[in-house]
Amino acid sequence: MGKYSDKNAVITGGGSGIGFATAELLADGGARVMITGRSEATLDAARERLGRNALAVRGDVSSLSDLDALAERVKGELGTVDALFVNAGIATLTPFGSTTEETYDELFATNVKGAYFTVQKLAPLLGEGAGVVLTTSVANVMGLLDSSVYAAGKAALRSMARSFSRELLPRGIRVNAVSPGPVDTGALDRTMTAEAAERFKAERVADNPMRRFGTPEEIARAAAFLAFDATYTTGAEFAVDGGATQL
Ligand code: NAD
Repeated sequence: MGKYSDKNAVITGGGSGIGFATAELLADGGARVMITGRSEATLDAARERLGRNALAVRGDVSSLSDLDALAERVKGELGTVDALFVNAGIATLTPFGSTTEETYDELFATNVKGAYFTVQKLAPLLGEGAGVVLTTSVANVMGLLDSSVYAAGKAALRSMARSFSRELLPRGIRVNAVSPGPVDTGALDRTMTAEAAERFKAERVADNPMRRFGTPEEIARAAAFLAFDATYTTGAEFAVDGGATQL
């Protein structure tokens, strides 16, 4: 019997990075894990690596009809949910002065609206004692360069952890946030030029009290802790950032 046997988890953005590492941790512990994401190929590869405990559903979290379809799949294939990891997100960096409306809308549609309606649509399927974990970011309490839209979106998410906690508490459901510092998941390389990504990474390492990036597995352990073990914690945000927001 694994630690998470008989548990059902749903992880948005579970095909790669932090979401995948969390899916792996939970599936290895015996949980049935449903991962979502936008890319069919990424999801197929992830499901194959995760093994027989994993299911994958393609969908865009900014689309309410995709979220309705996800809720139907969850209902049909898992029934109830013990852990919901609201992790899908994009990290477009843009200087305040040249941010376009398109970039602003895309970031908020995915990171804010997507998270809000993921919780709303899946809330009816959460079992008593379930844990919801939102992925925020250290950016929501720091004045990082080129991060104004991303940081504002993550601050909105941090606020939702409190509001959702209040509304779901009568059903015994806890809602918390995990706030990663810099984690090298390849996301930066996909959203920036190679040169900009290298410069950004070097700056983050130099700034960090531990002088290194975190690993997806370190964030995954915190997310699993908040979802399953932190039974007297709700509305909180847990920083996993090498001390970046504390020291
Ligand atoms: P990643 O790009 O590997 O993972 C993001 C996942 O979200 C991908 O699987 C992607 O398919 C999915 N996704 C993006 N937009 C989506 C949409 N519209 N619909 C459905 N799925 C969508 O990057 P990651 O670093 O693992 O990021 C995971 C989360 O962690 C994000 O919310 C990110 O903002 C947050 N975060 C990352 C870092 C870091 O340094 N990597 C730091 C702080 C917070």
